[in-house]
Amino acid sequence: MLYLDSIILHNFKSFRHANIKFGKGFNCIVGPNGSGKSNICDSLLFALGESSLRRMRLTSFPQLINSHAKPKKEDNVKRAYVKLSFRGEEPLEIARIIKSNNKVGYRLNDRHATRQDVIDVLRAKRCEINETNAITQGEIGTLLSLNAKERRGLIDVAAGIKDFDDKKSASLKELEKVEGSISEAGIMLSERQGFLNELAKEKEDAEHHIALTNSIKETSYTILKSREKGIMSEYESSLALIKEREKKRNDIDGKIKEADIEIESLSNKREAAAKSLNERSIEVGSTNKLLESANRDSAVKESQLSSAKNSIAELEKAIAELKSSRAKMVEERTANESGLKSANEELAEKSKKLKLIDVYDDAGVGSLLSRYGETPEEA
Ligand code: ATP
Ligand code: MG
Repeated sequence: MLYLDSIILHNFKSFRHANIKFGKGFNCIVGPNGSGKSNICDSLLFALGESSLRRMRLTSFPQLINSHAKPKKEDNVKRAYVKLSFRGEEPLEIARIIKSNNKVGYRLNDRHATRQDVIDVLRAKRCEINETNAITQGEIGTLLSLNAKERRGLIDVAAGIKDFDDKKSASLKELEKVEGSISEAGIMLSERQGFLNELAKEKEDAEHHIALTNSIKETSYTILKSREKGIMSEYESSLALIKEREKKRNDIDGKIKEADIEIESLSNKREAAAKSLNERSIEVGSTNKLLESANRDSAVKESQLSSAKNSIAELEKAIAELKSSRAKMVEERTANESGLKSANEELAEKSKKLKLIDVYDDAGVGSLLSRYGETPEEA
């Protein structure tokens, strides 16, 4: 038979941490008022799934947590737990935890569990708690003042009859529901019968349709068979044609391959040409730069040339002027020369006359003639 071996309390009501051991058989807890006897009983109720705050002398669940308990750092939540260890045919551990954020959890043999899991296990071992096998502080007076009907209810609970009554009323309700569903199903069945008749008619039509379709198919098959022969011969000639085409295609493929090789070599050449073109373009660029500077030089030279031409023109003009003045001078000189010649001739004439005068002077006539400007011959 299952029996309670120990209760571990952590932050539960007045207990910070306690491990209370029990013996097999009858156990009695004694202590002064306020020492925590009833708190131990409350812990037992709590761990076994009690949900009544009144029976644990509370107004809210967080009151179960020791007032000096400290919250955990990770979630800032205080917590209390009670762990019951049972022994018997096989050991059993039930634990229940309560947090200050009102969350509650159960563990059964150190695994997460629900309240229903715990109740099911206890019921299977005939250890579930109720108001008849767990009498809390102050409930004895209430029990004594029960009327006959309430007392009967309590006896039913204690004898387990209430459970059966509850199950019976639940089953009757279920039965009522099922009967309702059956009558609904009957109505639906009669409706469906009508549909079924219609469906039978549709089925007949469908079968006739299928027979007709089959005969059409057979006819089509015959037609197709005869066409097949023609198609087969067409197919064979097409096959021969295809083979021929394939041969041609192979030839073309060979040519394409050759062309590909040629294209590849051409593209290699093109790449080389592009490379050299690129180099040439670089050269052309530098040549262009040279050409630009040469153009600039030539523009300078041209402007110099035009100014030189202007100076030449001026020079030519000056030369022409000089030439014309030279021509004038030549003319003048010629004129002078002819004047000079005539002067010389005159001079020669005069000299001749002078000689004659000299001759006449010797004779004494000359000086006279010369005073009149006449030569001796004229005279
Ligand atoms: P009595 O003989 O009078 O029935 P008792 O031994 O049953 O007394 P309990 O009722 O179990 O005593 O314990 C009451 C004590 O528990 C009170 O002193 C109360 O302050 C303390 N207590 C109850 N809840 C908490 C809590 N959350 N934190 C700290 N102490 C608490
Ligand atoms: Mg008490």
